[in-house]
Amino acid sequence: MLRNSIIFTLEDIAKYPFSKDAVEYIRSIDITLRDLDEYLREQIFEKSYRRVASAIEEKRIVSRQRAYLEPRIDIENLDIEILSFPVAILLVKLMDDPLLASRYSIAESKRAAAFLKRENDEKIIYLATTTFNWNVSLNSDITSRYKAYAFMIDFPSYLKNVPEYSPKWKLVNRILYKGNVLLTKQDLVRLMEEAIKDRILQQVLKRQNFQLPEDAAAKWVNKIEEKWKKYRSRISLRKPVKLSEDAYPPCIVSLIEDVKAGKNISHAGRFVLAAFLINIGMSPDEVLEIFKSSPDFNESIARYQIEHIAGLRGSRIRYSPFKCENMKSYGLCRYDDVLCKGIKHPLQFYYKRASRRRYGDKIHEN
Ligand code: SF4
Repeated sequence: MLRNSIIFTLEDIAKYPFSKDAVEYIRSIDITLRDLDEYLREQIFEKSYRRVASAIEEKRIVSRQRAYLEPRIDIENLDIEILSFPVAILLVKLMDDPLLASRYSIAESKRAAAFLKRENDEKIIYLATTTFNWNVSLNSDITSRYKAYAFMIDFPSYLKNVPEYSPKWKLVNRILYKGNVLLTKQDLVRLMEEAIKDRILQQVLKRQNFQLPEDAAAKWVNKIEEKWKKYRSRISLRKPVKLSEDAYPPCIVSLIEDVKAGKNISHAGRFVLAAFLINIGMSPDEVLEIFKSSPDFNESIARYQIEHIAGLRGSRIRYSPFKCENMKSYGLCRYDDVLCKGIKHPLQFYYKRASRRRYGDKIHEN
């Protein structure tokens, strides 16, 4: 495949199976799993299963030969490699669990990012423009001061894909050039990793007609279910059964006090408070109730924002509050010499204290 002097090979399609070229390629071969002989079909299912199992166990997609730390593609069986991606998406979809969908999307996005880091600049730009419609280009007109910034991207594409709320990604800390944001290769790959994760998650969550032969898929769905059960229960265990207000960290207590006192708290403060409460198990309605004392409270806007943070809207990703380091840079940390010692994240503070409290309760009962 030759477009704009970029050669996008079948190997590239296997590396980036979410790309526009991959979608076109799969459409062009026009086969369904029912058309394939049983042996080939089982090989595709097996490979798809390994993708999902690896995401569950390793939080990344690793090759069968685990000696390789970097992801690899099976060049002997490129079509199996390529078709295993849409089939894996359908298997995850059949599991109908947003947590698994998120885990799988993250693992696939990390796999793609590992490949992207090794690509030349032109191919990275090709993928970003054709697959995500970003306005990215090579930064050819730079002074030696900005030599490390090989790429530039327009504001909307940048803002839409900022991977985390940390000082590094805030516009005030970026170099702006002719209306664009300058990026290093590492920055651009990180932005793309985020966009890939969102794209895959959307594919898993999107309504569509199943094209998997359900009889053949059942065995693989059961295998995934078996594996996921173990990890799922460990993740669920991290949540305390009951909300423990006395386990809130000082930063959150301070934000709640400010909201209750009718003080106007910053955008970052609202985000942190809502994300914290959602993550410890409060419903959006309960969080909304807390924000009702805000001086500029607008129920529909607040509900939209809280539901967005809870992953019920937009990207369908549940956001987490900032880690302590970033809380400090936003001026939101209320460090307590005793309570916050060794704490790196407000949720870590909460889970630690809440579980200690539960453990203490049990000792008491005995
Ligand atoms: S150290 Fe962390 S948990 Fe403690 S107040 Fe600061 S941000 Fe909150």
